[in-house]
Amino acid sequence: MKIDRVYHCSSLGFMKKYFTVDLFMIASSYFKKRKKNYRTVKDQQLTIAAKANIFICIIFCLFWTTYFIFAKMWLIVGMDIIFTLISIFSLFLIYINRISAGILLSQVVLLVFPVIFCLFFDVATSDRPQVAQLFLPAGAILGYLNYRRNPSFLQATLILLSIGCFIFFSGSSFNLESTIPLPEDIRDHGGWIATCVATLMICISIYTMQLEIQTESTMVQDLRLALIKEQFELFYQPQINASETLIGVEALLRWHHPVLGYIPTKDFIPAAETFGLMPEIGEWVLAQACKVLQEWSKKAETKDLTLSINISADHFMQPNFEQTVIGLIQKYEVNPSRLILEITENIALTNCVSMVEKMNFLSKQGVQLSLDDFGTGYSSLSYLQKMPIRQIKIDRSFVQAALDDKRSNKLVTGIIKIGLDLNLRVLVEGIETAEQFGVFKNNGCTEFQGYLWGCPMPLNDFLKQIAHFKMKN
Ligand code: C2E
Ligand code: MG
Ligand code: MG
Repeated sequence: MKIDRVYHCSSLGFMKKYFTVDLFMIASSYFKKRKKNYRTVKDQQLTIAAKANIFICIIFCLFWTTYFIFAKMWLIVGMDIIFTLISIFSLFLIYINRISAGILLSQVVLLVFPVIFCLFFDVATSDRPQVAQLFLPAGAILGYLNYRRNPSFLQATLILLSIGCFIFFSGSSFNLESTIPLPEDIRDHGGWIATCVATLMICISIYTMQLEIQTESTMVQDLRLALIKEQFELFYQPQINASETLIGVEALLRWHHPVLGYIPTKDFIPAAETFGLMPEIGEWVLAQACKVLQEWSKKAETKDLTLSINISADHFMQPNFEQTVIGLIQKYEVNPSRLILEITENIALTNCVSMVEKMNFLSKQGVQLSLDDFGTGYSSLSYLQKMPIRQIKIDRSFVQAALDDKRSNKLVTGIIKIGLDLNLRVLVEGIETAEQFGVFKNNGCTEFQGYLWGCPMPLNDFLKQIAHFKMKN
């Protein structure tokens, strides 16, 4: 039986039924109900703090520009105007939703401006200390909030530079020889104004951090409640082989929040990991998967299917993880070879004896292990030799790249070859078009998963779909 693609969501059929289930429901919870997701709330808090700080910076610069125009200190006027313009541009970036870029730019202003002032103009005297460095922690805290949202090397460097310069200028009264000290009358009240403004900016950033922590703790409480109130669901996405025969499914977690609707995995799984909730959630997933496999073992059309589940690092590292898995397999009388545990490279990289022992134990009991998102981590291939991995899943970031760019294509071909040479099954995820399927099939991939054959969907919908797939004899 050929796969009937009418029922599946290809990238061309965005409004098809299961695309609707997976993505449209998420979108509707955002836009239709206009309820705010945790990440949206945190983004909004950060945006308000950044806008407030930059706005204060602009007013501060404009005030001093006017002041120095009257004082005829044109060098400082020029500098103030440049910093005002850059600040206005960073505000503009935030308005057009380039939040990280806007904050990074404003942080550069909050680093360069005080440093230049400390080096050339703000000369400490026995009566009056240097104050320009007080703006540095304001930039560092804002940067830290941005780093939590979107970690980057540049962001981390700017934070460290701001802190380093703050320590340096606070601990010394270093100035260059060619200083142009500000007149005493300006420093008299200017020092107080600068100190007040910098303190206000620091307070805004600290308050925002407190709001973020509150939002996170609300989310953690809601996640705990979600377990009790059974708000988690598993959606199922088909996996096929090179002849488009259905061979298994991947179960993917969904959180159906009673008010916010479906929360995207990227918004709650990292938080659940950070707050140590993944072992509990993972155990629920494991039990659900075993229940489903038990049901499937009773029906001809499902008894040969494998069921893959994702295992987070801290769940896998629980001391009794392997016993729990085997316990559930025995409780539900499941054929262990039908259960595939997807682990990521960070678990494999841990590479400690107990990890390998756990894997060997599970593998000896018949449970299959798969390496998810292959190629995205610090791909040290040695673990493929040491660990009983049966399948690698090539990350979907390689899929379109392999079609667009020769180097990526060669890389993917190499990865597939390594996998096949090591006798592993090689699955590629994120196949959306027939062209992508053709390229990966010709490159030797043995298994495939992606919207071309179906988005993740509720169990009953998946069972209704089964008739449209080619099945193993
Ligand atoms: P993953 O295990 O690599 O899952 C594949 C992700 O790619 C899923 O996103 C799936 O919906 C999406 N996907 C599948 N085919 C296509 C396609 O053709 N095109 C595109 N653009 N995307 C496709 P999802 O469900 O949001 O899950 C994201 C990640 O969250 C998963 O990545 C996995 O790492 C994690 N996750 C999901 N469920 C669980 C779970 O039960 N436990 C744990 N620990 N992690 C989970
Ligand atoms: Mg996976
Ligand atoms: Mg993956």
